[in-house]
Amino acid sequence: MCDTDLFSSSFFPHENCGIFGVFGSDIEAARIVHSGLWALQHRGQESSGIASSEGTSIRVVKDEGLVAHVYSEELLDLLSGNIAIGHNRYGTSGGTGSLHAQPIKGQRIALAHNGNLPSTSSLKNFLTKQKYPISNMNDSEMMHAALEHIVQQGGTIQQAVRQAFPLFTGAFCLLIMTNKEIVAVRDKKGIRPLSLGKLSNAFVVSSETCALDTVGAHFVRDIRPGEMLTIDRNGIHSTQIVTGTQKLDIFEFIYFARPDSILLGKSVHEVRRKFGQTLATEVHLDVDTIIPVPDSAIPAALGYSQQSGILFDHGLVKNRYIHRTFIRPAQKLRMDDVDMKLNPVREVIAGKRVAIVDDSIVRGTTAKRLAQKLRTVGAKEVHMLISSPPVLYPDFYGIDTPSQNELIASRMDCDKIAQTIGVDSLHFLSYKGMMNAIDVDEKLLSTSCFTGKYPISLKERAKEVTHLKATY
Ligand code: 5GP
Ligand code: MG
Repeated sequence: MCDTDLFSSSFFPHENCGIFGVFGSDIEAARIVHSGLWALQHRGQESSGIASSEGTSIRVVKDEGLVAHVYSEELLDLLSGNIAIGHNRYGTSGGTGSLHAQPIKGQRIALAHNGNLPSTSSLKNFLTKQKYPISNMNDSEMMHAALEHIVQQGGTIQQAVRQAFPLFTGAFCLLIMTNKEIVAVRDKKGIRPLSLGKLSNAFVVSSETCALDTVGAHFVRDIRPGEMLTIDRNGIHSTQIVTGTQKLDIFEFIYFARPDSILLGKSVHEVRRKFGQTLATEVHLDVDTIIPVPDSAIPAALGYSQQSGILFDHGLVKNRYIHRTFIRPAQKLRMDDVDMKLNPVREVIAGKRVAIVDDSIVRGTTAKRLAQKLRTVGAKEVHMLISSPPVLYPDFYGIDTPSQNELIASRMDCDKIAQTIGVDSLHFLSYKGMMNAIDVDEKLLSTSCFTGKYPISLKERAKEVTHLKATY
């Protein structure tokens, strides 16, 4: 890998977003959504938006940036009403922020989407026939246009969802609102999480359960794969649009979800701690200190330390105020993302044999830069422990990890990766160890980034998976 890789701007994902909706009586729905979006900030930092209604029209406030930057008191006051949905977006780079910010509002409906449609050919055909100008639309905007079209022809939102559902090929959790209801929809494989919660006088739908806690709602259940759930004055009404089979993206457990969320009944923190414990039973290292790459690898490093008895320490400090959106091109010339975000604590590292724990290796950029930094502050040995197996295949369902050739493990074996990133040794958690730690039926998970088995057809994008690699 050459050094220019460190400055790559399309470092990461596309559309891993967070959505949150509320319907109730005597509530300021937008205020509750606002709190929910704060709790889902980790799922998207490029833009944020809220749509609300008090029964007649729908208003939207959305802009580039973090939740903290997008909403003022005055704007929240404008968002009155007892119905609201919100969205935090994670995009590839700054600049395009407000352009594709959500919720997307038309004349009748507003929509917030978490996920990604690898194939949009059916949707494009449908919209082209209706003479929609689709050239600048992304997948979410096309979904919205199809639903809006059907509603404008006189259909109810429920009819529109039923009719358009077969056109949506991919991963989607949708929150759709009209001026009198919210409809939550999940794709037939339930790739992205979506949970229902209850407040005393409102129902709440959230990408993750951590945001239910934040607003004081209690968890009711997950929205089922293939389900359409309507929330209106009469309460909740569920329709199974197609038979669903749960395939939650395993990366939610590994990286995306907040550790205080519950996925498939499992605490994310506990699962990650078990990743670390299991790794310690698989790999014995003779080192002085276990150091997590904050924040996502902290539970795994803790688990490794608890199981191995090796000291855990915070040898890397993360600057929590740096978000990629705010790293300007000029700064990028001088520093890379890792330098901006992580700094080693010399006192913890100098003269020590250290093992850094990270949750995943994608391109190898972070690991390489960290190894260099730790040696600069005097590490005697630098070992790397990864609390997941090698990522061999790209994601198409909402993470959009880079093309397969950019995935370092799809090009090199473990020793070669270790050499390339410059560590004394490198160890991945085994696939079996990962599954044991998650402790849910493997059939309930989408494991495509490790196995190449894609539960929803990639259709025209299948050709981007150019080579199969034996799982490690
Ligand atoms: P690499 O530097 O190897 O390309 O990526 C690995 C690093 O990125 C790890 O520190 C991991 O925590 C982080 N990571 C994994 N998945 C994602 C993602 O979807 N988005 C972002 N921003 N980071 C990720
Ligand atoms: Mg990380």
